[in-house]
Amino acid sequence: MRETTLTFIGTGHFQPAPDNDTASFVLNGHCLIDCGWNAAITMTRYGYTPLDIDRLLITHCHQDHYLGLAGVIFLRHLRENTVDALCQLEIIGPVEDIGRIVELARAYMQVEAFQRLANAKPEVVGVEPGQTIEAGELSIATAPVEHSVQGLAYRIRDERTGVELGFSGDTAYLPELAEHFRGVDVLVYEASWGVEDPEEGTEAGHSGVRQSARIARDAEAGKLYIVHTNRGQQGEILSAAREIFPETYWPEPGMTLHLP
Ligand SMILES: [Zn+2]
Ligand SMILES: [Zn+2]
Repeated sequence: MRETTLTFIGTGHFQPAPDNDTASFVLNGHCLIDCGWNAAITMTRYGYTPLDIDRLLITHCHQDHYLGLAGVIFLRHLRENTVDALCQLEIIGPVEDIGRIVELARAYMQVEAFQRLANAKPEVVGVEPGQTIEAGELSIATAPVEHSVQGLAYRIRDERTGVELGFSGDTAYLPELAEHFRGVDVLVYEASWGVEDPEEGTEAGHSGVRQSARIARDAEAGKLYIVHTNRGQQGEILSAAREIFPETYWPEPGMTLHLP
């Protein structure tokens, strides 16, 4: 039976912990959503390898969401001889920043001095918030977020299974996101402010968990998974969310959802 799978590689908050990387999720075994500090190595702990990644979706270009990019590109290059044909890597992200960040990652690896690495150039797709793109079996709709840099809230439909997933990236409370995420089966949402209630539409830049839960409730999402928050307050954060949206969960790193 065909299924959609989503593995939580890292769910952490700005800085990784020894047992939890920052934002990184693997969809259907080949699409990496955000690229935490150590994504290339962390994903191998859960049975994935950068050699299988042909699409990388970056929500926005803050370090906790892209720092592992050079590692992913370099590991693919180092191990390319171990596979018959290495898939092309397409990197999708906010048009304002993604091209520059990929070029900087390549410069950091000194591609000018390593010809084969220079040849292994990822394809970069800069996306304007609101744009929709097709990527293999995935239809990807984006919406703007409220953050200090340009960001993309991804709504992804697996056309093989009809499963729909939403990823907030980093954002302050923005009621319009409920419309963007309407009816998704799974909503992966940040809650950097935990049980605090930052003002709406301000420079908060991030959401409190009650705001995340309100988006899930208003969107009539299936299930809400809280990420990018304080793991030390798991109990309080979950109860605050569940008062508003009972189907709220706390994903442990390595957990895989099999959908539908
Ligand atoms: Zn951010
Ligand atoms: Zn972040």
